[in-house]
Amino acid sequence: MTEFMILVPGVSHVILCSRITHPIRVPFCIISSLFVLLDTFFLFFTVFRDPGRMNKNFTSEDPQAVVQISNQTFTLKSCTTCKTLKDLRTHHCKVCDYCVDRLDHHCPWVANCIGRNNHRTFILLLTCTSLNSVYMIIANSFELTLLDPPPGKYGGEAVLIIYSIVLGWSIISLLFYQLCLIMKNRTTHEHRRKLFKANPFDYGAFKNCKVFWSMKRDFAVPLTLNRT
Ligand SMILES: [Zn+2]
Ligand SMILES: [Zn+2]
Repeated sequence: MTEFMILVPGVSHVILCSRITHPIRVPFCIISSLFVLLDTFFLFFTVFRDPGRMNKNFTSEDPQAVVQISNQTFTLKSCTTCKTLKDLRTHHCKVCDYCVDRLDHHCPWVANCIGRNNHRTFILLLTCTSLNSVYMIIANSFELTLLDPPPGKYGGEAVLIIYSIVLGWSIISLLFYQLCLIMKNRTTHEHRRKLFKANPFDYGAFKNCKVFWSMKRDFAVPLTLNRT
């Protein structure tokens, strides 16, 4: 479904561009094709990459363990379904039915969890789709207004503009929300559930972005784990 929503407008624009005689049709066709390829590439990795499924070796005979981070003490809990000890940012996805490392959310549009391993490609997918929507609005508006089309001939461009405005508004809003959370080093799950009143993973906006891009663990649980 998501690939369909990427592919159909992109290919439609290439077909519509091929009808016009203005030389700008060549760069328009190339840019549209590149956006389709990039979107498909990022979508493929987001869908098929393991989001960070927790393996079962992170277990403890103790029902609880305590970690300290940023001068705060937290009690680690076990997942009642997976029977594994969860670190602070690991949560169980009810749809996938397993625990995911640094779970952000389960995304039905990619039929996968967004976790430590595929969050970056998810952000790249949103960025690419947002830019594509803006490009489609500009390119199709240009074709409609500046190429002096005969009446009724350019209905396809009008449909693409409306589609891109609706899709672009949704995706850009989501991207903006995600970027705000990344700058605070918070996940969607933590934000929705209002976990951590004082966020122990907030190192400042710049370092938070670096931490997100490197996807390093915020703390090494086994090193700081103290059995109770
Ligand atoms: Zn679980
Ligand atoms: Zn899931």
